[in-house]
Amino acid sequence: MADLVVRGGTVVTPDAVFRADIAIEEGLIAAVGPDLPGTSREIDATGLFVFPAVIDAHLHFNEPGRTEWEGAATGSRALAAGGGALFFDMPLNSTPPTVNAREFDRKRAALEASSITDFALWGGLIPGNLGELAGLAARGVVGFKAFLCDSGLPEFPRADDLTLADGLREAARLGLPVAVHAESHELVQGLSRRMADQGRQTIRDFLDSRPVLAEVEAIQRATLLAGEAEAKLHIVHVSSGFGVAAAAEARARGVDVSIETCPHYLFFTEEDVERLGAIAKCAPPLRNPIHVAALWEKVLEGTVDLMASDHSPASPEMKCGPFWQAWGGIAGVQSTLAVLLDQGYHRRHLPLERIATLIAAAPARRFEITNRGRIAPGYGADLALVDLDASFTLNSEDLLQRHPVSPYAGACFRGAPLMTIRRGELIYNRGTITAQTCGTLVRPTLT
Ligand SMILES: [Zn+2]
Repeated sequence: MADLVVRGGTVVTPDAVFRADIAIEEGLIAAVGPDLPGTSREIDATGLFVFPAVIDAHLHFNEPGRTEWEGAATGSRALAAGGGALFFDMPLNSTPPTVNAREFDRKRAALEASSITDFALWGGLIPGNLGELAGLAARGVVGFKAFLCDSGLPEFPRADDLTLADGLREAARLGLPVAVHAESHELVQGLSRRMADQGRQTIRDFLDSRPVLAEVEAIQRATLLAGEAEAKLHIVHVSSGFGVAAAAEARARGVDVSIETCPHYLFFTEEDVERLGAIAKCAPPLRNPIHVAALWEKVLEGTVDLMASDHSPASPEMKCGPFWQAWGGIAGVQSTLAVLLDQGYHRRHLPLERIATLIAAAPARRFEITNRGRIAPGYGADLALVDLDASFTLNSEDLLQRHPVSPYAGACFRGAPLMTIRRGELIYNRGTITAQTCGTLVRPTLT
């Protein structure tokens, strides 16, 4: 008999939207279909839509080492409140960063003790750690993250072209992707220096120091090197339609490249940065409305593969002071699904099936997490129950992250995540965290 039945909801998969019950046994989906037999524990999903829970493939919970910025305890609760059950933590801004097996073990232990959602870990690719990648792969990283420009943290230096080329070859040998922050170091540094020399330090100047051209150039270079190495490449947080097009051109040439964007590049524009200040500062920066519209077009036509939050919070003090010196990073882990429902489904007719792909099926497939990300028998019972028509305001007191500092605070959304189930356990229920157990490490199943 099932441990739990989610009854009467409308199930959303990448292929279809249909009314069905979901029976769960020992954390796995046992059956999906009409009129499944009853059991002692049932959740009434009548009138609700049941999505695969969000798999956030890119965020920074900064644990261990910088938990005063965020931590997995608070971050995972915020993720759960937004319909998420699994995240992939980046190798920075924890400190020391996850660039060898020892740091992997330290982070794993910290997250197993604090996270209420499941998690996977990215390893880092930095100059000098090529010999560590095999050890990280053996531990179970989903891939290796490299910066093509300054990361903002001295302990995580950028990958020069030779480091990237060597890292891509080694990652290909290990069967894992390399994820790149694609902005041209040469262009960004050169423009930033020129502005400093000219005393140009406004928000507008910052935006102009990181142009779309810097993103496109870095994507072209990274895809060229990945093609040469026959490696899998993942471009994180692509901020413009031109950036997506550059990656898609490489894909058409046969390069194995996947494209990620973040809700903030679709929800905000550079006018919001000028209005909100450092709270909306990130790199690449938010773009003008023409670029935002072009990026939406790429999402709607299906060229963007997956959506991740790139939740990258800092302490509130680091968001004060002069804009250029303020920490860059947007704290949005709780609102990925809400943005896609409101701005995607309701405003732009983005199909629900496509949302299920962007938030869950695609990240699971790309990073070879084989039994997650879908609502089908045999898959982990990770579900997000959503009231598609309920409108809500995301107030700062609703944010479960460590510091309630987010450009999304005060935003209104139509489409509300109400409940989150992780491996059959109800971990979030209408404003309350109900998790009884901690999350566990998830590894890719390499073929
Ligand atoms: Zn990031």
